[in-house]
Formats: sequence, structure tokens, C-alpha cells
Amino acid sequence: MKLHVLGVSGPFPESNGATSGYLLQADDTLIQFDLGSGVLSRLTAKTAPEGLSALFLSHWHFDHAADLPVLMYRLEALGFGKGGKVLDLYAPADDSSALRRVAAAAACFRLRDVAPGDTVQIGPCVISAGEARHPVPAVGFRVECGGRVLGYTGDTNTLPSLAGFYRGCHLLLADGLFPSEAWAEQKPHLSAALAASLAKEAGAERLVLTHLNPFFPPEILLREARENHPDVSLAAPGQILPV
Ligand SMILES: [Zn+2]
Ligand SMILES: [Zn+2]
Repeated sequence: MKLHVLGVSGPFPESNGATSGYLLQADDTLIQFDLGSGVLSRLTAKTAPEGLSALFLSHWHFDHAADLPVLMYRLEALGFGKGGKVLDLYAPADDSSALRRVAAAAACFRLRDVAPGDTVQIGPCVISAGEARHPVPAVGFRVECGGRVLGYTGDTNTLPSLAGFYRGCHLLLADGLFPSEAWAEQKPHLSAALAASLAKEAGAERLVLTHLNPFFPPEILLREARENHPDVSLAAPGQILPV
């Protein structure tokens, strides 16, 4: 598997940046995880989005789904939803989300609810959804393909189930938004240090911190995370990460 990093910011982009978006490539299978602000143009630079095997959203917050209605325009222009062609869209059920209502009404998408415990096979990849602790319904994903394992936490704070769900990941892409001094139990995200503790407890080989807030200095995140795990880096747009 290869993970193309398209957008890493949250909840708003840095200058010329994009919020959450990652394209997973496994042979001919192309699976998009999250489609935040600025991600669709970067995805289009890699591949025609209508050729995606599936699109998975960790949750419906705008920094993970803002480009979805714009993708809808492209798919409609290509005749999606008018008999036959649709794009499979997997995301948590969330009645509070205006974006989800747009997606549910759009014939170009086949919207499928995902909840923790669900497993879906897309091409050679087995994708499982796990719990996340966030103010809206949210999940993280575990992708297994050819003996390799990718974990993507989406947005979450601490949860007892996380270490088990991400057990043995070769690459864990984790929400590490907060420096330790800004993190609190009731906040919606992990700190970089806690993401590294999670990676260590799960036995993850490599940790890549993402959902990077432009207002927090990345060198602090990296330093704090490296105290808890030996192999930590920061996600950066344009990276192609082997899994
Ligand atoms: Zn977010
Ligand atoms: Zn969120």
C-alpha cells in the first residue's frame, strides 16, 4: 500500500494548504480517506476522482468533508447518478450534519453508514471502522492489505479501545493536534504526546502525526511525541508514504 498525503491541516488550512485528505493506493484500488478543504484539487492532480474505488469519511466535520459537495458537481457533470454509475461513500450516520443531508440527497453517491465494528472489503483491502471520541459521530479506520496494516485515527481524544484497534499497525496516522500544555481531557483531539503513547501501546512501527493546527508550532509536537515513540514524523502534503 502507498498513502498519498493530500492535506494535513485542521481545522483550517495553512497558507496554500489543505485540511484532512489521504489517498490510499493498493495496486489498482484507490481509496480516498476524508475530503477536506482544498483536497479535491490535489486529488485531481493525482487521479481522476470519478475513478476512486470508494470514499471514506471519518466524520462529517467540514475540515474532513468540505470538498464533498464540489466533488458532487464533477460527478454529476460526468453523468453519475443517472443510471449505473455512483461513487460508494462510507461515513458515520450523523443527523446533525448539513453536509450529510446534501450527500444523502445526491444520486451520484451511494451513501453507506459505517459504525465501529463494521468491516468492508474494497479490492484487496479490508477496512475496519473503530471507535473515536469526538463531539460528533466519528470513526477511525484500520486497513489491512497483503499483510500490511495502516491505521488512521480520524479525529479523536483518548479512548481505552484505541490501542487494541490499532494493534500492530505498520503505519499509524494519528490526530496529534495539541501540544501537551494545550491538551485537556474534554478536548476533541489527542495531543502529539498522547498519539505517540497510543502508537507505543499499540505496537505501531511508525507514527505520522497529522491534523496539524497552523497555530501550534510543529517542532514542539515532534519533540513531545518523540519522548514516547522512537519513529515519529509529521505528515506533509505531497508525501507518498509506503505502508
Ligand atoms: Zn478535524
Ligand atoms: Zn472533527
